[in-house]
Amino acid sequence: DESKQHDHWLIAFREEMETKYLRRLTIITELKKVLTDNQSELSMVYQPKINLQTNNVCSVEALIRWNSANLGFVPPDEFIGIAEQAGLIERVTAWVLDRTLDDLADFRNQGYVFSMAINLSTRDIQRPEMMQSLAEKITRKGLTPADVELEITESDLVEDTAVAISNLNQYQAMGFHFAIDDFGTGYSSLAYLKMLPVQTIKIDKSFVLKLASDESDQQIVRTVLNLASVFKLSVVAEGVEDELSLNILKEGGCDIAQGYFISRPLSAQALSEWLASTAFGLQKTETK
Ligand code: C2E
Ligand code: MG
Ligand code: MG
Ligand code: MG
Repeated sequence: DESKQHDHWLIAFREEMETKYLRRLTIITELKKVLTDNQSELSMVYQPKINLQTNNVCSVEALIRWNSANLGFVPPDEFIGIAEQAGLIERVTAWVLDRTLDDLADFRNQGYVFSMAINLSTRDIQRPEMMQSLAEKITRKGLTPADVELEITESDLVEDTAVAISNLNQYQAMGFHFAIDDFGTGYSSLAYLKMLPVQTIKIDKSFVLKLASDESDQQIVRTVLNLASVFKLSVVAEGVEDELSLNILKEGGCDIAQGYFISRPLSAQALSEWLASTAFGLQKTETK
């Protein structure tokens, strides 16, 4: 009887593995197709971040979207990791950089001075030639490296500390700014935080989403804010979904907030419209 149970478990396990494996394979195949011939399935959306002291939009985060004809919407949390493992991330990142820099140049022409936050994977920062080509693309568009902020997930950074530090130092010398993304989920040590050449930490949304009602999250956020002030880092809270959380962050001295309460990620066109409107009573732009 017990062995029958075990057989059932094995079959279920194998079916689940097969499903996952097939899904992965399909994503790789489809993504390859998309990258070679119909990049129109890819798009970028932009989510504003506001400076909590001035209520101005200081930056927007660029987030990729993939609406696949065959798979429907595939979330970036699912396909970015697969792209990294399948050796496709270089091409995804190249596409992201071209599109976001074009859009940033457009926003500059409209008079907006916010910076553009772009997510990179560790694979990207391990390639100095990619960073070099990024610097060139930026110059060609009449922008400077200080106009972009590069976000790297904390868990990625702790994977190979020494390499990460030396890479980031090199890119910082080129004028790039870095933010540690999903801070609090990657177990970086204090010693490490001291050595990393970053300007900003982004508190992971898992500590922010329920901030208004969860006391332990409030304590965690307070701790991160104290830590950041010791290291003179600016702090972004992502995942701000309600006004109470926004006020807690503001009163706690958090510098910047991002989340659905302020705005969902928007297409470039929709962001332009949002920026021109005055929802929330915030002054949304600093015009040149
Ligand atoms: P991330 O960089 O931490 O981005 C923040 C995520 O939180 C985004 O999810 C955003 O839509 C979501 N978010 C923002 N505010 C709220 C809120 O108030 N509530 C909730 N529930 N969620 C909120 P998204 O767009 O699905 O992206 C997921 C992850 O995929 C990103 O996490 C990033 O790690 C990765 N990613 C997205 N675009 C790119 C890209 O162009 N390149 C790379 N390498 N990774 C990307
Ligand atoms: Mg990010
Ligand atoms: Mg994050
Ligand atoms: Mg993330």
